Amino acid sequence: QKITIAIDGFSSTGKSTIAKRLASALGYIYVDTGAMYRAVTLFAINEDFIGENEDIPGLLRCLNQIQLKFVPNKELDRSEMYLNGENVEAEIRTMKVSEQVSKIATIAEVRELLVDMQQKMGKEKGLVMDGRDIGTVVFPDAELKIFMTASPDARATRRYKELLERGEEVTYEEVLKNVQERDRIDSTREVSPLKKAEDAIEFDNSDMGLEEQFERIHNLAQR
Ligand code: C5P
Repeated sequence: QKITIAIDGFSSTGKSTIAKRLASALGYIYVDTGAMYRAVTLFAINEDFIGENEDIPGLLRCLNQIQLKFVPNKELDRSEMYLNGENVEAEIRTMKVSEQVSKIATIAEVRELLVDMQQKMGKEKGLVMDGRDIGTVVFPDAELKIFMTASPDARATRRYKELLERGEEVTYEEVLKNVQERDRIDSTREVSPLKKAEDAIEFDNSDMGLEEQFERIHNLAQR
């Protein structure tokens, strides 16, 4: 019997690593909702709706021009985010986008649009979705809800390594600051703030390895 699995938590807690492995072990679909908020943010940056000349009403008028698609890349064994037909997978992970994304994610209309798309993607069971509001808002009835946390240092270290591997010039301090700032905005925003669903199981991976965590969550999913 297939189920819906919601994985929420703070930035860079390893949510997507676990979610991806879980989906492939169970033969489920994996959806990275952060990529969707990041793609809308990239659109807003490219069209000059955010940054120096901020124009949120302008962005809202153009929301219907945003087309998002996850396209499977067989060679890399993952899906990549396409924004209006263009592969933006690498660009949405850059600091330029990370610095603006939490602001874009506070906008109610943006959340409505993306939550609606996410609910459509999850119409059929057999789905692992990660984000900030999956267990609370997108799929409050998900059969398994996980909430992941880790110390700010553990998280910044993970994200810093990822960015270095992608060749981005960034310091550990900048990454730590960004992770903490996003967590602050995400947890205090008015619409769907990041919080643990009451029935979510919490995992702190500051000291538990991802391997052990994966095993435990995999077991929970098969019960
Ligand atoms: O998961 P990731 O770190 O890529 O998410 C980037 C940002 O997108 C988060 O910091 C948050 O502001 C926003 N987000 C959200 N709700 C989700 C997923 C992501 O608000 N379900």
